[in-house]
Amino acid sequence: MEKTAFLGVDLGGTNTKIAVVSREGEILVRETIPTKAMRPAKEVVEDIAVAARNGQLAAQTKGYQVGGLGIGIPGLIDWQEGICLLLPNFPNKWQGIPIKSWLEEALSIPVSVINDVRAITLAEKRFGAGKGVNSLIMIAIGTGIGGGVVVNGNLYIGKDGGAGELGHITVEPQGVRCGCGNRGCLEAYASGPAMVAQALRALVQQNDTLIRDLVEGDLNRVTPKVIAQAARAGDEIAREILIKSGSYIGQALSCACVAVNPEMVVIGGGVAQAGELLFESIRQGIEERLFIIPSNTIQIVPAELGMDAGVIGTATWAKEKNR
Ligand SMILES: [Zn+2]
Repeated sequence: MEKTAFLGVDLGGTNTKIAVVSREGEILVRETIPTKAMRPAKEVVEDIAVAARNGQLAAQTKGYQVGGLGIGIPGLIDWQEGICLLLPNFPNKWQGIPIKSWLEEALSIPVSVINDVRAITLAEKRFGAGKGVNSLIMIAIGTGIGGGVVVNGNLYIGKDGGAGELGHITVEPQGVRCGCGNRGCLEAYASGPAMVAQALRALVQQNDTLIRDLVEGDLNRVTPKVIAQAARAGDEIAREILIKSGSYIGQALSCACVAVNPEMVVIGGGVAQAGELLFESIRQGIEERLFIIPSNTIQIVPAELGMDAGVIGTATWAKEKNR
């Protein structure tokens, strides 16, 4: 008898990853294609369908039948109708693109749509850092800040699919305006671009910092990675940036912890690789503000699945939607 596997698609602004994933979370087939997001959405989706069909055929030769496809969207979606509402990092924003029905027409298998970080949260719960726990909060720190919530062993996405939008917890009530319309959102203070902006300010103000040497004076080369490198070498300005960001993240997480009372907080995303100083500041930020429930019993751990989490999570979402 043929075994069933699921297609997972991780739609990114630069590249799109497509994989066939077994029920046990093992990647059977994988392919990465350039998204070329400046093209009409229809063409992007057609390329995804071609790669998905190739994946389906390759999985068949391994004895697997594909039972459905899950796709992770980097933005706001109507997850029930499978329509994109706003993809901030796509040139034409993809407003109103019916991605679910387009893919279902092309592939004749059920398609399930989910926010990209919610998919990563599901992957970490089923196969990664959160395997053994019943409740967790995931935060992914990168160009933006996303997140997800697991309660009673399952991903909880909320009425509109927005449960876990931790990047939009207010951390400075009178703060700067965020892309979402609110003021003082976490994302505006602790995301990768927010850290880079602080470093650039220090450089322009002619502060003494190792960051300048690391980028050889070229301001375009300042990244969260460079800031982390300078911090590890003991640079005060870089350390301050990481500690401040960590403290904001901890502040937002303490709010989320009060709502969920989780066993675990999972920290992922590119910026999370900044290392121990950021983690320590996040831990401290939580402890400083969380009194009503015990904070010292919350496990704060790094994500485990890395770059594969997106396709594993979206395939798993498809599996759980098509039992
Ligand atoms: Zn916001």
